[in-house]
Amino acid sequence: MPFSISLSQLSEVLAATPINFAGLKNNYLINDVSTDTRSIKPGALFVALRGSNFDGHEFVQAAVAKGTVVVVTEKDFGTELGEGIAQLVVKNTLQAYQTIAHWWRNQLTIPVIAVTGSFGKTTTKELIASVLGTQGKVRKTQANYNNEIGVPKTLLEISLEDDFAVVEMAMRGRGEIALLSQISRPNIGVITNVGTAHIGRLGSEEAIAQAKCELLAEMPQDSMAILNADNQLLMATARQVWQGKTLTYGLENGDFQGKLVDSQTISIEGVSLPLPLPGRHNAQNYLAALAVAKVLGIDLTQFSQGLTVQLPEGRAKRYDLPNDLVILDETYNAGLESMVAALHLLAQTPGKRHIAVLGTMKELGDRSAQLHFQVGEKVKQLKLDNLLVLVDEPETAEIARGAVGISAECFTDRQAIVQRLKELVQPGDRILFKASHSVALDKVVNQFCQLV
Ligand code: ATP
Ligand code: MG
Repeated sequence: MPFSISLSQLSEVLAATPINFAGLKNNYLINDVSTDTRSIKPGALFVALRGSNFDGHEFVQAAVAKGTVVVVTEKDFGTELGEGIAQLVVKNTLQAYQTIAHWWRNQLTIPVIAVTGSFGKTTTKELIASVLGTQGKVRKTQANYNNEIGVPKTLLEISLEDDFAVVEMAMRGRGEIALLSQISRPNIGVITNVGTAHIGRLGSEEAIAQAKCELLAEMPQDSMAILNADNQLLMATARQVWQGKTLTYGLENGDFQGKLVDSQTISIEGVSLPLPLPGRHNAQNYLAALAVAKVLGIDLTQFSQGLTVQLPEGRAKRYDLPNDLVILDETYNAGLESMVAALHLLAQTPGKRHIAVLGTMKELGDRSAQLHFQVGEKVKQLKLDNLLVLVDEPETAEIARGAVGISAECFTDRQAIVQRLKELVQPGDRILFKASHSVALDKVVNQFCQLV
């Protein structure tokens, strides 16, 4: 059974007296909640959220036209909505949406697993979902719906037939993960790592660590923390706020410590397992997922035959093109640590020459120039053959400056990069593309793939 709440219970949960029940009975059941009239289903409760670019109150009529009979709003529409439409007027519709999701979460008895961290949340969420998918029905965050609206949306999608829920949580500032943790009451909280992603917003790595660890501080006391022991700042910060049950994992440290046998195999607790995704960073993400399995009493030998994981676009995507050309599409996002992880992946991909096509890492504040420079140093250290940089902010050129001794070229437009790549590539080359999402380096990938 999907989400279900009676009208009278809803008004109690929201502490909102309905303007009228519009002829609906107290026990009238609502089976769906929507905030978006583009995808709303007939009969769904419509919650009118206010965003920076939209106001859901302007779409209440559209919801009604599509079959909504109960709406949650911040203003009283009076008789405007016509007969038969029940209105619950609240102070803050976003809070109301979260309150409904929290109430529904409290009706559920299945393990809810929360995943946060600076990098690898979506990847780890998908890996956990695949691991648990071998045991039962898994509900997981769709795409990247990981914020104050996405987390309640995910919770509301859980049905009573599901066996596990995996919820990704992200933040832009302090207090946000705390709220998401309160709403979700996770039984297991996973923190993948702490790094410099979006450091421009929080100011320091310590502040980022504290914000991520709000997940633990707000979890129920008998919940289990699963933490990346290879990340010292994370461990130190977690210890300050969490004294409850903990399983630490890592490739170098941790109670649950794995060893890379080769680039395709990991050994953990005496069992050899194929890695579902390439790269050392993804081996760590997989360890986090296996740690969840361990905590839930699942035997690791179940994964000896391997797992299939389908990641959303722009993460660890490999395209094998004609003439033995390989593209690593990492254009979904980028920060220092994920750039470093992806550059290692490129260097370790056997091939003739290794070419990095990189762009800006956004939201790094006054650390931006320094962190871009460090990316260049990594390119140099890994002795890559060519570096092409798409410069859309002055600091981005620091990548090329950090890579002294490597053939580095800067470009200000995408088309020029595509042309240059066309001249440059030879059969057997391996090419990595990576930048923050808004740089739209995926367009370069698409154009280049059409040319070769
Ligand atoms: P977002 O904050 O945008 O939701 P996310 O935390 O969900 O990001 P993913 O989408 O899983 O992260 O991965 C984004 C990129 O981060 C990947 O393409 C990869 O380059 C890098 N990455 C993934 N896992 C790790 C890790 N454990 N350590 C460092 N980098 C990683
Ligand atoms: Mg994500």
